[in-house]
Amino acid sequence: MSSLRFVAVDLGGTQIRAARYTADGVQEARVAMATGASDGVEFVMRRIKSAIRQVWPMDEKVSAIGIGAPGPIDFSQGILRFAPNLPGWENVPLRDELLDAFDIPVFLGNDADVAGLGEHRFGAGQGVSNMIYMTISTGVGGGMIFDNRLFTGGQGLGGEIGHMAVDPHGPRCNCGNIGCLEVMASGTAIARRARERLDAGDPSMLREMVEGDLSKITAKEVNEAGAAGDELALELFEEAGAYLGSAIVSLMYMLNPSLFVLGGGVTHAGNLLFAPIRRIVKDRAPAIYQERTKIVKAELGRDVGLWGALALCLMELHL
Ligand SMILES: [Zn+2]
Repeated sequence: MSSLRFVAVDLGGTQIRAARYTADGVQEARVAMATGASDGVEFVMRRIKSAIRQVWPMDEKVSAIGIGAPGPIDFSQGILRFAPNLPGWENVPLRDELLDAFDIPVFLGNDADVAGLGEHRFGAGQGVSNMIYMTISTGVGGGMIFDNRLFTGGQGLGGEIGHMAVDPHGPRCNCGNIGCLEVMASGTAIARRARERLDAGDPSMLREMVEGDLSKITAKEVNEAGAAGDELALELFEEAGAYLGSAIVSLMYMLNPSLFVLGGGVTHAGNLLFAPIRRIVKDRAPAIYQERTKIVKAELGRDVGLWGALALCLMELHL
């Protein structure tokens, strides 16, 4: 099997990454370039193809291309329906474009789903059949794997953990729903809550860290302040952790996975985030669920989308 090779592509709003892997997960070549999303669909398509060509092997032998894209996917047609971070991308036949250009099987998936597959096959979820991956960064995304297969629902639109409502009185989310996990516990939400609390006059070292310019606050600054023991920052992580923890308890009841893998930039906060999540789960989930469900940090880091695109090829080809 190790003689088979795959090209993995991670199409993001700011970067396109591509890598060539053996089926065992040995990375043989890698390239990253700016997406240039504002230049339009055709320009970005050309860049994707160029990235693939740059990691293509001399002997031309590639078994499949896997690609993760930042939006909902029509699986049967291989179409990216739309992408919030890629202006103009509506119903782009990404699979057929690449099929025409390279003439080998192409597998297309949603980026969070693909990242979940990556962690399942090569990261924190190895050897587990039922797991839920959650990515907590600018937004909150999810990937659900049951019986070692990705679950995306009837039309490929399922697994959107970030848009479960966790506060019926919360702010409206970009998706239209109110109080989504994404709008309560993402990095963007943590930064928004920090600004609200500072505006209300709460003391915090955050104000000094951004020299009074509150628009500069991101989850990263809140993390740094929390690590230095700042009360407000600690409270903000408690808050986000409580929303994530209660969502995890609901998911335990509904889907009974044996593992939750949490990734994305906000998880760099480590125990600042994980401690309140675990506290909520310990307080609210019945013991029988707790004993059989682990909550761990993702392992694959920035390349999770590439590993995931490889894992998508392997899953689709039953390897
Ligand atoms: Zn939403």
